[in-house]
Amino acid sequence: MDRPSLTPVIVLGATGSIGTQTLEVADRLNRHVAGLATRSISPRLVAIAERYPDARIAVAEPPTGAIDSALERRVEFGSEAIAGLAGIAGTTVVNGIVGASGLEPSLAALEAGNRLGLANKESLLTGGPLVTEALAAHGGELIPVDSEHSAIWQCIVGEPDAAVSRVVLTASGGPFHARADIDLSSVTAEDALAHPTWDMGPRISIDSATLMNKAFEVIEAHFLFDLAYDQIDVVIHPKSYVHSFVEFRDGVVKAELGEPDMRKPIQYALTAPERITGLAAPFDPIGVDLAFSVPDRERFPALDMGYAAGRRGGNAPAGLNAADEIAVAAFLAHRIGFHEIAGVVADALDAVPPSPILTLASALAADAAGRIAAAESIAARSNR
Ligand code: NDP
Ligand code: MG
Repeated sequence: MDRPSLTPVIVLGATGSIGTQTLEVADRLNRHVAGLATRSISPRLVAIAERYPDARIAVAEPPTGAIDSALERRVEFGSEAIAGLAGIAGTTVVNGIVGASGLEPSLAALEAGNRLGLANKESLLTGGPLVTEALAAHGGELIPVDSEHSAIWQCIVGEPDAAVSRVVLTASGGPFHARADIDLSSVTAEDALAHPTWDMGPRISIDSATLMNKAFEVIEAHFLFDLAYDQIDVVIHPKSYVHSFVEFRDGVVKAELGEPDMRKPIQYALTAPERITGLAAPFDPIGVDLAFSVPDRERFPALDMGYAAGRRGGNAPAGLNAADEIAVAAFLAHRIGFHEIAGVVADALDAVPPSPILTLASALAADAAGRIAAAESIAARSNR
């Protein structure tokens, strides 16, 4: 296989926040973009497709009306088409899809022995055991793109697995953690979408505001680094300069830090172990605010729900993710309040009986069960 730093790049979720930044990085590195995938045909996709005239394109949902004729000749539809792109051997696949639909293409990339740059944490939530199995079985590579996990990855490069005693994930806390004066039952979608340090898609922005995103990242760290849940801690760090810490057995602590800029972890996933001049601005440490504090686990119960679901294992992480996706959508549609998101997810986790994740079908069933249970909780709340 070519050096990973030279392989063509497939960008899944090409119109999103991660996808757009991946294209910027690929252009800067002169990497060939061989494939693009999105959920739908959109003006944004049409514009991107024009920039990469020989990229294959896969779109999850069939079009509802007439589509651009140049695009029509190039596009394949359906989730199989997206998995097909991810499975083109000898490529580096960056998965920036939002939601559990990211799982199948992640598995396809690893089964083809590809390098997978994983932003789609839902792959690990919905099918963590399947992803780790596929990684072990086919000689592929999984390099995290989520900034905290990229930081951990970069801190442990060259260290024996047994050397790590603990990781500490940093959380900005989102727009409300530092504001004990704000009544969480009255915040609007607009307030919740205004993330203080990162510019991200809507789902992850709301998840950052509830701390559910950090709950997901605890589970993500468990699967990526094979750590027990009591080896994974979370601290609030409002300015997002430190992207995470790793503590080793001898008490030495390493951290990766710098300006928050997702193009850095994306680039590392494309070039590792090489480092190439990229787009990131130089870091000036003078005057940066390196304050840390404990998370408020009462106002933001989602964090401990993540630990509980992770420790329960089986279908619980998939249910957590699926129920949260439904709850976030209901909040954005003004059907429930911000403070009810965690309650809906808790109801859904209580309602779904435990079962193991052994196959893709069981992962998708766990996802579906979580969605149904969350929808039932939301319906019950609106009838109250
Ligand atoms: P966005 O909402 O900005 O973008 C989502 C992308 O996924 C869009 O291109 C969308 O296409 C595509 N998509 C949605 N559903 C499907 C589907 N079924 N099949 C194929 N493509 C689909 O999300 P983000 O970029 O913010 O997040 C993407 C992932 O990265 C998430 O898992 C998130 O947790 C993770 N992440 C994001 C970070 C960030 O800074 N944004 C940081 C760390 C992790 P369309 O435009 O057609 O809807
Ligand atoms: Mg993150």
